[in-house]
Amino acid sequence: MAMRRRKLTEAEKLVMLGHGNEMPFTGEYDQTFDRGVYVCRRCGAPLYRSDSKFDAHCGWPAFDKQIRGAVERYRDEDGSGREAIKCAKCGAHIGHVFDHEGFTRTSVRYCANSLSMRFIPSSKKAKSKMRRDKSAEVVYNGQIVEADNQDEKY
Ligand SMILES: [Zn+2]
Repeated sequence: MAMRRRKLTEAEKLVMLGHGNEMPFTGEYDQTFDRGVYVCRRCGAPLYRSDSKFDAHCGWPAFDKQIRGAVERYRDEDGSGREAIKCAKCGAHIGHVFDHEGFTRTSVRYCANSLSMRFIPSSKKAKSKMRRDKSAEVVYNGQIVEADNQDEKY
């Protein structure tokens, strides 16, 4: 059965397919703490629940626990030796993962790009400020690229 995949914006492509990362403190969900679930922006698979989100003050959404089996680790090819994370269902790049930092009880920090996820609030009264910029700065191949982030009109 074919997997349903959303058409990505240029900024989303640079992150999810090009293994880029949005600039810190610029992402849509950096300061979102409403209840809900974060799903893969490409295939819609649930990745993280809001109760695992915490403020690591690192500039990206941080989670200390994934939805079981939703996220896979892989070695980043950028030479940094960091461990990257991807959607287990569609393989899209999500961000990086860091162990043993001691932020929370699990001592794991999934550092995720807002551009890789879509937040689905469990209540319509969600009140966190979420911004959706028409363009986004993405670090891609070591360069800062200003990329279009407007959804196609259908
Ligand atoms: Zn996915």
